[in-house]
Amino acid sequence: MIFIGTDPRTEERRHMVATQIAARGVRDTAVLAAMEAVPRHLFVPPALRTAAYEDHPLPIGLGQTISQPYIVAVMTELLGSRPGDRVLEIGAGSGYQAAVLASIVSLVISIERIPDVAGLARSNLATVGVSNVRVVLGDGTLGLPEDAPFDGVIVTAATPEIPPPLIEQLANGGVLVAPVGGRGVQELVRIKKTRDGIDRTGHGGVCFVPLIGEFGWSVE
Ligand code: SAM
Repeated sequence: MIFIGTDPRTEERRHMVATQIAARGVRDTAVLAAMEAVPRHLFVPPALRTAAYEDHPLPIGLGQTISQPYIVAVMTELLGSRPGDRVLEIGAGSGYQAAVLASIVSLVISIERIPDVAGLARSNLATVGVSNVRVVLGDGTLGLPEDAPFDGVIVTAATPEIPPPLIEQLANGGVLVAPVGGRGVQELVRIKKTRDGIDRTGHGGVCFVPLIGEFGWSVE
């Protein structure tokens, strides 16, 4: 992946990774390198760029958000992706999480339900020169059966339970990460699909906007 243009904010990213991410226990060197490389400020609205490397989520318009850097790093680490993997993301939003993943794996397909947000993700990804992310408009709770199976699935909106199609579309040995719970607070859940079934572990509390769809919440 190539990031186009000058990037005067490299030092801010190094500081973000050191103080917000590595200091809190994220160890995966591929994840730390990706978080240092991707110019997060180009995924937030121009008026909020000065806050791009701060330790919290930011609004991206249409009631949606770009997640806190630490949460992006934790979810990416939990996914455990490797070069060559194909990952499905549900909730493209700004495109930032997809860009972080795309600097580790060979292909990311990201589904977004709001047309203008899908357009925003595509435009942001093009601006930074990311070419291995495909943004698809649709209901991500249904997954993308025609492109399955996926080595990893990451859900970046809050779901009452993990949508069954996403588990079905996970490869054997694949990992899914999702915020599961109510509309206020959720638990970050990691499941690993094996030939014998599903291993499920919890990884702390998070707060995401709702996943709206056939296997998610029914209203905004
Ligand atoms: N990953 C994003 C990023 O890096 O900026 C942040 C995602 S934002 C917290 C959640 C996104 O999920 C929103 O853009 C929302 O429109 C989207 N969303 C909600 N329900 C969805 C669904 N069923 N399918 C696809 N996208 C959905």
